[in-house]
Amino acid sequence: MTCAHGFLAVALAALVVLGGPAASAQTPYGGPLFDAHLHYNDEACVHDAPAPGCPHPLSDVLDRMQRNGVRAIIANSRPNDGTRALAQAREQARAAGVTVVPFIRLYRDRADYNNWFRDPSIAELVRSELARGTPSGPYRGLGEFHLYDSANAQGPIARELMVLADRQNLAVLAHVDDAAIEQLMQHVLDAASQPQPARSAVERGGPVLIWAHTGIGGTPVSRVDELMARFPRLMGELSYRPGLTCEDGQLCPDWRALILKYPDRFLIGSDTWINQRWLYYDGLMQAYRTWLGGLPPDVARAVGWDNGARLFDLPDPGERP
Ligand SMILES: [Zn+2]
Repeated sequence: MTCAHGFLAVALAALVVLGGPAASAQTPYGGPLFDAHLHYNDEACVHDAPAPGCPHPLSDVLDRMQRNGVRAIIANSRPNDGTRALAQAREQARAAGVTVVPFIRLYRDRADYNNWFRDPSIAELVRSELARGTPSGPYRGLGEFHLYDSANAQGPIARELMVLADRQNLAVLAHVDDAAIEQLMQHVLDAASQPQPARSAVERGGPVLIWAHTGIGGTPVSRVDELMARFPRLMGELSYRPGLTCEDGQLCPDWRALILKYPDRFLIGSDTWINQRWLYYDGLMQAYRTWLGGLPPDVARAVGWDNGARLFDLPDPGERP
């Protein structure tokens, strides 16, 4: 009896060590982070000025990135001045160890959120920003843009900008539902079937489409899986994704399985769309480090850093500054 009980106790202890209940003891991911969804909007301040009146000057946001091991960001802002400010602050960004990957936001103000897809002046804005570039180099993508109703993916400017992104090798950051993902990709495929000199979109798989939140309305994991299989250049950014994490801040089983199935297709992001998100920036990055730490180390590194770095040819960031 004693012997059997002893065996049972040892077996149970082994299960605890090997199995789920030890999740909280997992070491958080300690590698570099690529924040693939960052806004530096005008209400944050976007330059260096003393408080009050400037809640998050450049020095503050760069400090938040640095202390969290965020070594690169997809920067976009409403209006585009915040992105330009980050791109211009080359010395400060270098000192903080942060590489800025600038995207063009399609919005001058909040009214544009619900109208950009049919407003020709937005296509003009994009073309003039593209021609202008940023102080640290060309823009690398378009977005974040929103389509709250997937039917608006049929808007003429949505179509035009998807084709433009494909032809100019720009990534797209889109806050849309699963139906709109299909429609946006279809625009590129339709354009590719027309005679024109650009490289074949079909051959290349269309533009890199970063799906902001990967279905913020709770798109079923099976549906995300289906879209990932169908569109090889679709990437999933995971901020605000419902149902992503479960106990102890670790990934829920269905999400863990999906990320293990497509380890090179997911990204993390802060989505600092309001100033409150800047206040919680540390906690957001710690939460990512917690669940990344529950993945095999190479997958954690892929989702935390490599996938974003690969999209934009960023070098290994080395040690934290
Ligand atoms: Zn956003």
